[in-house]
Amino acid sequence: MTEVKHHISDDFLIGYAAGSLPAAFDLVVATHVSLSDDARARLHAFDAVGGCILDEMDEAPLAQDSLSKTLSLINENAASEAASPQNQTRPEDGIFPAPLRDMIGCDLADVKWRPIGMGCKQAIISEGKDATARLLFIPAGQAMPRHTHRGTEMTLVLQGAYRDETDRFGRGDIEIGDETMNHTPVAEAGEDCICLIATDARLKFEGLLPRIAQTFLRI
Ligand code: ZN
Repeated sequence: MTEVKHHISDDFLIGYAAGSLPAAFDLVVATHVSLSDDARARLHAFDAVGGCILDEMDEAPLAQDSLSKTLSLINENAASEAASPQNQTRPEDGIFPAPLRDMIGCDLADVKWRPIGMGCKQAIISEGKDATARLLFIPAGQAMPRHTHRGTEMTLVLQGAYRDETDRFGRGDIEIGDETMNHTPVAEAGEDCICLIATDARLKFEGLLPRIAQTFLRI
């Protein structure tokens, strides 16, 4: 089982449960959830809370024990959901967990990559008005250009690992970048790094060449 160290925040999980995230972010959250027992248990708890709130809205006044009933239901659901085999990604599934594979209809070998320089490649999965989802391939040991963000950048590692000014991110880990964060992700030596990324705005590169190139690359 993947050992996830950097988990999605409750805010994004609640947004996912409520169906209020752009499709590109939904895809990254669903893929992360399939790799993380922790995220899966929390998501199920939020689903249960949402269901209970709707149920209770019909009953006025609230029963005295409704809170304790709700909490015990959440705990039961979270435990059974985390243990449920159909919600877990198995090693034989390849590097693309089911939500991603279902979306793009293929696994790694059939991805239509486009080179973006320095040996890096990308494949845009979905491009909407509000957000874009893409796969990014960074060769082992290669650094990405230093950049900050005009909005939210949600990165999920699928293969290998990278490091930046914040920490190390390996398979299953999520990193959130925003306007306050400036970073230079560097793929670890030894294995090429493949990430699934959702963004709702263009990145902001420091160097001139990446700034020129980004117009063509839609990054
Ligand atoms: Zn970034």
